[in-house]
Amino acid sequence: MSGHKQVVTVLGATGSIGCSTLDVIARHPELFEVFALTGVSQVERLAAQCAQFLPRFVVVLDDSTAVDLRARLSTLSPRTEVLVGVQALCDVSSAVEVDTVMAAIVGAAGLLPVMAAARAGKRILLANKEALVMAGALMTQAVREHHAQLVPIDSEHNAIYQCLPINGQGEVDNRAVASITLTASGGPFLHMALKDLGAITPEQACAHPRWQMGRKISVDSATMMNKGLEVIEAHWLFGVPAEQINVVIHPQSIVHSLVNYVDGSSLAQLGHADMRVPIAHALAWPERVSSGVATLNLATQGELNFYPPDFDKFKCLDLAFAALRVGGAAPIVLNAANECAVAAFLDGQMAYLDIAKTNEQALTALSLSAPTSLDDVVAIDKETREWVKSHVLV
Ligand code: NAD
Ligand code: MG
Repeated sequence: MSGHKQVVTVLGATGSIGCSTLDVIARHPELFEVFALTGVSQVERLAAQCAQFLPRFVVVLDDSTAVDLRARLSTLSPRTEVLVGVQALCDVSSAVEVDTVMAAIVGAAGLLPVMAAARAGKRILLANKEALVMAGALMTQAVREHHAQLVPIDSEHNAIYQCLPINGQGEVDNRAVASITLTASGGPFLHMALKDLGAITPEQACAHPRWQMGRKISVDSATMMNKGLEVIEAHWLFGVPAEQINVVIHPQSIVHSLVNYVDGSSLAQLGHADMRVPIAHALAWPERVSSGVATLNLATQGELNFYPPDFDKFKCLDLAFAALRVGGAAPIVLNAANECAVAAFLDGQMAYLDIAKTNEQALTALSLSAPTSLDDVVAIDKETREWVKSHVLV
């Protein structure tokens, strides 16, 4: 790496991916420097992160949180400036000083800052899959036009990125790819019958057997909507059509996905189920740095199993393939309906199985025209949320 330290903004610093990112950064103070951190409500954690990394800026979403944070930082990190609001998220993602943006906000809320980073030509470490699901065409176009780079953080996509030829600009070459296989743990309900899923509680849904994650993605993993979003994500990241993307259940989460080439070779990336592995890969790319995670010992690892997913039980996975095939507004509708349904489920206002039902109803009811601008994407997202509020959450 060059003499200059890589200057990083961490969007969603207080979350699961944000904290793992700072864990890796803290291991390499000679390589990385934090420009900005962002969060919403965990003021104490955010203040502690500022005290450790001394960023130039920290961004929150409302004034009362900002007042609280400023008071704490007056002693902990007096030179860190507290900014407020979505425009500030975009500003710290596009600032000239910044090389790299870790996009680790959850959900559609991450879209505008990620697009700002793309338009400013940044290296984007993309955990926020929802942003790419919503604006795949616009985002990949912006990345190309502004010479930005998308490095996937999602463990499956990072695995695929590691198994594809990549040029000096970080662009993948998919010419010899026959198909892509995304592995899926199957979540906490892999072995439960569909008829027994009716009474699932948020606590059960968030208890993932392999990964420690935020609550929204944990529910998405349980319904396999997460894998569905990842299928759409893979389409945009690697330029492969829906027909060439398949999903295999692999409960141990050791093989993180495969690229199948036309000559019959399949390349896979393996590692422990710890997000610091893909995060360290993406931060250091094209070099390698230590992540704090041990290497695998296959001799003691035990069995690795693989089987096909049950599309009837995991309806959301089926819906995502359908939305990808339809294209246009469909993935935005699916994502927005799912975000509303998952929030309602976590709030105790919706039954577990109604998440998939809501997503399907929204896709059927709303046939909106394909977006041609970021404003269109935001409008489709908004319209879907209003539809769910008025038709489902009544
Ligand atoms: P999390 O809930 O732990 O953290 C979310 C972060 O986003 C927090 O810092 C929160 O303050 C911030 N945030 C929430 N709402 C916001 C809003 N409206 N505006 C601005 N910021 C907001 O979530 P996570 O598990 O870290 O996941 C983050 C993203 O990474 C998601 O898109 C998820 O799908 C993806 N991802 C996570 C994992 C994982 O292991 N956790 C793995 C792969 C992909
Ligand atoms: Mg994943």
